[in-house]
Amino acid sequence: MSYDDQNIFAKILRGEIPNVTVYEDDETLCFMDIMPRADGHCLVIPKTPCRNILDASPDQLNACMKTVNRVANAAMKAFGADGITLQQFNEAAGGQEVFHLHFHILPRHEGVATRPPGKMGDMDAIKAHAEAIAAAL
Ligand code: AMP
Repeated sequence: MSYDDQNIFAKILRGEIPNVTVYEDDETLCFMDIMPRADGHCLVIPKTPCRNILDASPDQLNACMKTVNRVANAAMKAFGADGITLQQFNEAAGGQEVFHLHFHILPRHEGVATRPPGKMGDMDAIKAHAEAIAAAL
């Protein structure tokens, strides 16, 4: 399987479509998921191309994990969360829909289920959640 540079996250990285950024550095971008399954649901991606965990380089994975660690701690603080769910899917059979490596960070609270997938979030709320995480970084 090769990398398709027309995937939606590649377009976000090129600035062709908008995103709500939480954090970025030279190697990674963290932005809000537009169909959040929990308040504060955000995604961490490498700025360089790879489809998923199967073709990622150690450097790409190291950079992503460093950002995941930072943002997850900020999200815990920002939402007073009890835990974090980290999700990552590989190829269609593995549940992947966008073929640029990404890690989902979902702040979780005891006894609260995640929302169903595929429902657009409220953009004002999503922006406020991004600001809350960024402020806690
Ligand atoms: P998956 O590949 O299964 O991990 O799912 C891709 C994720 O990307 C889903 O949670 C979508 O809600 C999310 N998503 C799709 N398009 C966008 C977008 N333009 N901005 C932010 N998140 C997106």
